[in-house]
Amino acid sequence: MSEFDVVVVGAGPAGSAAALEVARSGRSVALVERGPFPGSKNVYGGVVYGRVLDDLVPNWWERMPVERWVTRRSTMVMSGERALTVDFRTQDWGRPPYNGATVHRADLDPWLAGLAVEAGAVLVPSTVATGLLRGPDGAVAGVRTDRPDGDLRAGVVIACDGVNSFLAKEAGLFDGSRQAEHTVLGVKETIALPREVIDQRFALRGDEGADIEMLGCTGDVPGGGFLYTQRESVSLGVVLSLPGLAAARTRPEALLADLKRHPAIAPLVAGGEVVEYSAHLIPEGGYLHLPRLAGDGLLVAGDAAGLCLAAGIWLEGVNFALGSGAQAGRSAVAALDEGDTSKRGLAGYRKALERSFVLADHRKLRDIPGLVMSDRVQRQYPGLLCDLAQSVFQVDNPRPKPGLRGLLRRSAKDNGVRLRHLVRDAVTGMRGFG
Ligand SMILES: Cc1cc2nc3c(=O)[nH]c(=O)nc-3n(C[C@H](O)[C@H](O)[C@H](O)COP(=O)(O)OP(=O)(O)OC[C@H]3O[C@@H](n4cnc5c(N)ncnc54)[C@H](O)[C@@H]3O)c2cc1C
Repeated sequence: MSEFDVVVVGAGPAGSAAALEVARSGRSVALVERGPFPGSKNVYGGVVYGRVLDDLVPNWWERMPVERWVTRRSTMVMSGERALTVDFRTQDWGRPPYNGATVHRADLDPWLAGLAVEAGAVLVPSTVATGLLRGPDGAVAGVRTDRPDGDLRAGVVIACDGVNSFLAKEAGLFDGSRQAEHTVLGVKETIALPREVIDQRFALRGDEGADIEMLGCTGDVPGGGFLYTQRESVSLGVVLSLPGLAAARTRPEALLADLKRHPAIAPLVAGGEVVEYSAHLIPEGGYLHLPRLAGDGLLVAGDAAGLCLAAGIWLEGVNFALGSGAQAGRSAVAALDEGDTSKRGLAGYRKALERSFVLADHRKLRDIPGLVMSDRVQRQYPGLLCDLAQSVFQVDNPRPKPGLRGLLRRSAKDNGVRLRHLVRDAVTGMRGFG
């Protein structure tokens, strides 16, 4: 049996950020990872919003193993074979302090864990935390692992074990709120293409990258899609509601294949070779379905705490994992310094997250996951928008151009959209930005 001030379970972004902050304080910390190395088991789409690292890693952009800097961000709304795209690009995002970057997890996670190790954390790979150890008062006092004599005792355990957090469940921090309806399935193909082909097809130069988010591309299953560029590959994926998948009796790979054949996507990936296929769950419930974030001797961060924003034009989890993990590390150290690692002693964690972007963003966007997954946003609005675009851009001479108000009324009727719902949803959407 070994003893540390803090044991962090899971060397994803949340766990490495937590271990980094604990190690920097001079406290002892073990970072337990079930994979043979950090990142070996991890799946995501591909974009990291790195500004959260400003406070953690000086000049992080010079050190992070970046593939491309995202200078072009698009939202594509699809209906049948049609697509309407809002396409934004700026050179500002291609220079410090940057905005988003594509990075492979097999590069990102070892880099982040390496920072924690450099600061003094002990990385324990190829080790599964199998349960919680309890002290005489019932408080969490460490973790059991699958190694012989592998118990790790600690003043505070930080569970960063990802979306299906077995440790948070064992501690009873979920009161049935982590249900299938608040979890989506992400599947993705990594498709290899020569660098110059990617540059040409996505209109990129040098280390510029593109990030395309899609709506209306998942058939009868509520969800969305994404397409990101790496240096010599692109990541194409869909994010799908689990109950929606079950109800539609379809398979995720069939929906991804449909997306790959879409006329707006097929030319972008043509001739590419699929070099990886991966799938993973994503917490999607947002602020309204968070678990409790602290128990006696225990904190939860990242996906394990449901801190991921998978809502339409946002697919952000790594930044929330880094932000919450770092705060969990700081809160654990503060509680140890105060000599109170009970739930009360650790309560500062939630308060600090409420003050930071982590819960401020989740609070602000609390109604967005429900809105994005609604039938109107999934099925009716994409049809409405594509109908409108087609009518506006189509030249039907000798008939004169149609009036916009009439067009809107007709498209709304054809797509079963009630204007009062449209206005209400627009207000809900705007509140997210408000
Ligand atoms: C398809 C898809 C696309 C996504 N795209 C993006 C994107 O482009 N940008 C973005 O910001 N986010 C994206 N996300 C979300 C993002 O991946 C997560 O929010 C983020 O990885 C959460 O980090 P984490 O450290 O909390 O958990 P994870 O990254 O899941 O790390 C958990 C770690 O814990 C380890 N572990 C689990 N159980 C145990 C155990 N019992 N013992 C020891 N170790 C254990 C795992 O091996 C893993 O290393 C995407 C997710 C998916 C599935």
